[in-house]
Amino acid sequence: GPVLGLESSCDETAAAVLAADGRILAEGVLSQEREHAAFGGVVPEIAARAHLAALPGLAERVLARAGIGFADLGAVAATSGPGLIGGLIVGACFGKGVAIAHGLPFVAVNHLEAHALTARLPGLLERGAPSFPYLLLLVSGGHCQCVAVEGLGRYRRLGTTLDDAVGEAFDKAAKLMGLPWPGGPHLERLASQGDPGAVPLPRPLLGRPGCDFSFSGLKTAVARAVAQGAASHADIAAGFQAAVAAVLADRARNALAMLPEATALVVAGGVAANQAVRAALSGVAGMAGVPMLAPPLRLCTDNAVMVAWAGIERLRAGLSDGLDHAPRPRWPLADLAGA
Ligand code: ATP
Ligand code: MG
Ligand code: FE
Repeated sequence: GPVLGLESSCDETAAAVLAADGRILAEGVLSQEREHAAFGGVVPEIAARAHLAALPGLAERVLARAGIGFADLGAVAATSGPGLIGGLIVGACFGKGVAIAHGLPFVAVNHLEAHALTARLPGLLERGAPSFPYLLLLVSGGHCQCVAVEGLGRYRRLGTTLDDAVGEAFDKAAKLMGLPWPGGPHLERLASQGDPGAVPLPRPLLGRPGCDFSFSGLKTAVARAVAQGAASHADIAAGFQAAVAAVLADRARNALAMLPEATALVVAGGVAANQAVRAALSGVAGMAGVPMLAPPLRLCTDNAVMVAWAGIERLRAGLSDGLDHAPRPRWPLADLAGA
């Protein structure tokens, strides 16, 4: 039967129903952006309450759109970490409740695994699903990492950020320029009116071995440039974006060299929306002779389709979880049970 996916690890409440073969029957995402904007970032307590208020109704609407009821489901998959614990508890408990009520298997999905497997959704990418192993570059508000995806449940983190996530860096730089939160898309718009070469900004770790990331020095340099007031915000934004794109490309190049068997460079996370970032990464992939695959934006950012799909992949491998599975705010990919 169809699989219900639930996502509530950060600031998106999402539900989706996928047929057992991976076809998307219905999906919905409610962003809490407005609840958090006044605070300039996600407030965990507000997020948890908003998930609690929104999730049951959203799940019912998504099921109705799929033309089925809870009793028609074959399984439930809920994000159970990593993320903000309040939201994780809401999603996992709701999912377990549905599983108990209808005698369904429950899958506790790792949010990072869900991002990692999205590109394998049947029919998603024109050129077909990438086969293992491939390189995942996860660039979101909470994560910035290079992951070797070697199989279901088999991930090797090749590099990660030493300080801020890249989306967080976009948001902080944008805030320094007085742009609303989340600032990534606003900063990209502003950057399009600026000269990326006008303000020289550092490119942390560029040219160094490995594929770790660092953005705090770049953020500090942006703060200094803004405070000096000599350059326009558009020029600073353009310089910042160019520096980030160059750093991501440099790190991805090294990561691809660390995984020479990679069949593709898969990009996920909200920052994958950025055109300068995309262009830089597709250049690197091209030079390494692999395709750059980016799921459509709605599936790059937090969503429940990817959670349901990760659930399907796990169920196919004979994996599911007990109802005593406890949500984990920290849950590195390396801790996952392999198949
Ligand atoms: P998680 O890290 O758990 O996935 P998240 O909600 O922070 O959670 P996403 O929803 O994937 O992550 O992405 C949001 C981030 O992406 C924000 O930091 C936002 O500023 C950034 N972002 C979105 N669009 C753009 C863009 N066009 N350019 C740069 N950054 C962007
Ligand atoms: Mg988000
Ligand atoms: Fe995410």
